[in-house]
Amino acid sequence: AVRVRFAPSPTGFLHLGGLRTALYNYIFAKKHGGSFILRLEDTDQTRLVPGAAENIEDMLEWAGIPPDESPRRGGPVGPYLQSQRLELYAQAAEALLKTGAAYPCFCSSQRLELLKKEALRSHQTPRYDNRCRNLSPGQVAQKLAKNPKPAIRFRLEEAPAFQDLVYGWNRHEVASVEGDPVILKSDGFPTYHLACVVDDHHMGISHVLRGSEWLVSTSKHLLLYQALGWPPPHFAHLPLLLNKDGSKLSKRQGDIFLEKFAAAGFLPDALLDIITNCGSGFPENQMGRTLPELIAQFDLTRITCHSALLDLEKLPEFNRLHLRRLVSNATQRHQLVEKLQVLVEEAFGSQLSDRAVLDPAYVERTMLLRQDHICRLQDLVSPAYSYLWTRPAVDRAQLGTISEKVDEIAERVLG
Ligand code: GLU
Repeated sequence: AVRVRFAPSPTGFLHLGGLRTALYNYIFAKKHGGSFILRLEDTDQTRLVPGAAENIEDMLEWAGIPPDESPRRGGPVGPYLQSQRLELYAQAAEALLKTGAAYPCFCSSQRLELLKKEALRSHQTPRYDNRCRNLSPGQVAQKLAKNPKPAIRFRLEEAPAFQDLVYGWNRHEVASVEGDPVILKSDGFPTYHLACVVDDHHMGISHVLRGSEWLVSTSKHLLLYQALGWPPPHFAHLPLLLNKDGSKLSKRQGDIFLEKFAAAGFLPDALLDIITNCGSGFPENQMGRTLPELIAQFDLTRITCHSALLDLEKLPEFNRLHLRRLVSNATQRHQLVEKLQVLVEEAFGSQLSDRAVLDPAYVERTMLLRQDHICRLQDLVSPAYSYLWTRPAVDRAQLGTISEKVDEIAERVLG
């Protein structure tokens, strides 16, 4: 059975890049009648952001792509939070120590820091010099007596070639470029590589769909699978999502967070549409696709290695299309009317010309008449449309300057 996972670290709120990875996983799962799992990779406890875990799960629900199994929903292979799975990582590290695929490292942080400085001074990429790799059993026993909780490192070997479902054949010579990585820290927390492999295995993940920035790590993961005697899943790395000009989608600007789009009144469908529209995986680029259509048309073999360039200026136009689609559906229209009532009340409250403007029939008629002129429902409560809901801001004195029949007109307008 197809089982895929979205595995963000709760080090920030969900943004468009994360949404895209989650979405491709969701679509792939639904296309194949499989399961979509949310796993939170919270092993770096120093980088956790309060509220991020809740935000990620809330936003997936808001976007209409809820996980089948997750920290909140639970599921058969939980817990879905890595910090609650330490026992499993310790077991795997133990197994690797037994076969000699891993070894304890007693190097002090000062020594590692020094190595780093020396490398940087000679303009080299810092890497661990594998000093503890060849300690004799006697030396290990001696050092363990002084330091019973050493870090565990994984012995990198020549990496096997593998076929990525998007990038084709790959092989990264990790052993000659990198030092042996720490897989379990002295505090008992795993690092990303071990945690990821152990969880993907125990959670029965069949396909790993993740950003292409993880392509190089895959060689290390395959070595871990080999050393643990586990069959690896299939891998499909997704090309980067970039701004229209090819620059990185900046998280710092704060404007790519999902909750901002939600608060600004953009529809989840419009976001899913624009994100898939700029990427590959579909027979043709066509605006206005709904999630069921995306699922029906998706084809993993159509994903190319080209970066996806996102043009957010087009988002209002995508939103207009999806808003019109909802307006044309009776049930959805009813919900939109209720939303618009709330928006009107919020925006104008006491200034409403008459409570009658909140009447569902009036709200609906107004929405239907203006639907081609607005991108978001919110636009209908913008100042330009205040005349729909409020009295004109004029008084008798002002009117006096434009017409002699002021009294008569004023009588009619102002009552
Ligand atoms: N925790 C990693 C991230 O934040 C997950 C990478 C993966 O999917 O293996 O993206």
